[in-house]
Amino acid sequence: MEDDQDFATNLSEQLRLFNYDVHLVNDLEGLPTLVRALNPAAIMMDVVFPSGDLAGTEAIAAIQRERTAPVPVIYISQRDDFTARLAAVRSGGHAYFAKPVDAGRLIDALDRLTGAEENTPLRVLIVDDDPDFGQRCVQSLESAGMYARAIADPRETLDQLQAFQPDLIILDMYMPICSGKELASVIRQQDRYVGMPIVFLSAETNRSQQQSALSLGADDFLAKPITPEDLVAAISARAGRARSIQRFLLRDGLTGLLNHQAVEEELTREFARAERLQQPLAIAIIDIDHFKRVNDSYGHVVGDQVLRSFARLLHQRLRKSDLIGRHGGEEFLVALPNTSVIEARTLIDSIRNSFAALRHYGPAGVFSVTFSAGIAGYPQHRSQIGAMQAADAALYQAKRAGRNRVVVDATSSEAPSAITIAATVPATAGQQLNWRALIISANGIQRRLLRQALTEHNIMYDVIDTVEHALRYESPIPPNLILVDMTQIEGVRTPHLMSLRDYFTAARVVTIAPAAAEPRAAATIAFGADDYLLLPLAAGALPALLDRLSASERSHS
Ligand code: GH3
Ligand code: MG
Ligand code: MG
Repeated sequence: MEDDQDFATNLSEQLRLFNYDVHLVNDLEGLPTLVRALNPAAIMMDVVFPSGDLAGTEAIAAIQRERTAPVPVIYISQRDDFTARLAAVRSGGHAYFAKPVDAGRLIDALDRLTGAEENTPLRVLIVDDDPDFGQRCVQSLESAGMYARAIADPRETLDQLQAFQPDLIILDMYMPICSGKELASVIRQQDRYVGMPIVFLSAETNRSQQQSALSLGADDFLAKPITPEDLVAAISARAGRARSIQRFLLRDGLTGLLNHQAVEEELTREFARAERLQQPLAIAIIDIDHFKRVNDSYGHVVGDQVLRSFARLLHQRLRKSDLIGRHGGEEFLVALPNTSVIEARTLIDSIRNSFAALRHYGPAGVFSVTFSAGIAGYPQHRSQIGAMQAADAALYQAKRAGRNRVVVDATSSEAPSAITIAATVPATAGQQLNWRALIISANGIQRRLLRQALTEHNIMYDVIDTVEHALRYESPIPPNLILVDMTQIEGVRTPHLMSLRDYFTAARVVTIAPAAAEPRAAATIAFGADDYLLLPLAAGALPALLDRLSASERSHS
């Protein structure tokens, strides 16, 4: 809601580049009705209107009063005085920006408010020879939103550390095979687990026994019996802290991306994985064009903002499984698993277009910035170093050829496309399909449940709010599993289902519905859905669905 038309149009263009759906409003009177109808994820609001110097905050206050959950509000105003800021706070506003304002910072604030920057659940591994106790811990922790797994045999610990990747381990003190103290030492013997928080949970009441456990590098000692509330409180605080330290060590402070060392290490892992799974891997080295000039003309602070908004754009456009790192200064590294260099070129090029269209705000006015990228990958290059050098050489060519372009390393474009190696992997019966899901839902809870389930099963996904938007969805790697909210395709909206089928020809379409609506969900099959899935998910429901889909896929072919 903004009466400065130019500013409003401009800002909405920028927001759309970051995948936000924007409605421009200029009628203050009509705002409450519109908010009720649209139920927006956030409102960006001006303060001063012709009807009053605080008309904006007054309108928001009225809207918030009639809601049970306040809608997130970001004020953007030419006023920067105490009275206006206080009125904003009292009206239930969440953030306040004085003009001129940088789109990157607004998007940061929006992401935070709308939860786009969701924290993934903390992961906890429990080793206790009493399986009932382990299960109870799992339940307590999971009902508090964490992922937990319990094992009764300490000999499985190392495998589970590797497979489950916990943020924290809970160890029982006394177990038949080895003691908790011994197990802690076995874990600590390995460099990569030196920082892993270990908490003992035991009926041991002897102070000196507890002390000796702590001296071995355990982080805490919790006494059994423990109430679920105490367990959750103690564990979430510790695991959360461990994770933020880990984050601090691995992430670059300015952009939040993986730092140089972390991205190189992750890349080594991705290379090994590509080789093992015989899947292509694309690497892009991206360098901002003439960045020195940006600093020279607008100052370092503005330069930093450009780097941040670029990092944010990468984050928004790439998949969760993609690696994104700040390789140095104004150079970034992106690695795309199971993606050929040709697919990568299309993707990075579309990001290049978006970035070039972003406007940045400096003291001396508005400007835009471009980047150049070089791409190379596996299997054309068999070693990480070889691929990095080839990508670097391609980047150099892009710079030489005039910048603002994406160049694929020469050996990669001559050699047969990487896609062929993926296709020659024998499709043995029963082999799991490589699922890539697209969630179509505007319902936050539904989205969250699905994301969690897909992440748990290592399925890549993307999320989009409506069928209309899905029909404009473009990705170099098209989804093969569409999970669509039933309310968007049933009844009068049945044609939507057919459009989805037509647009995503290679995909299976699955209806998502609350368990109570099962008969209606089942009915969508008659109108063209392949299957349906009920929320909240019953244990094993997702793998069962995928099995059914794979089975019918085989019988199709
Ligand atoms: P080219 O198109 O050839 O890449 O030109 P360029 O000016 O971008 O390249 P060059 O490598 O000569 O300059 C990079 C500049 O990036 C110099 C350095 O001051 C700036 N830079 C590096 N890290 C940061 C940072 O964290 N913040 C800011 N503001 N500037 C940075
Ligand atoms: Mg540069
Ligand atoms: Mg440079």
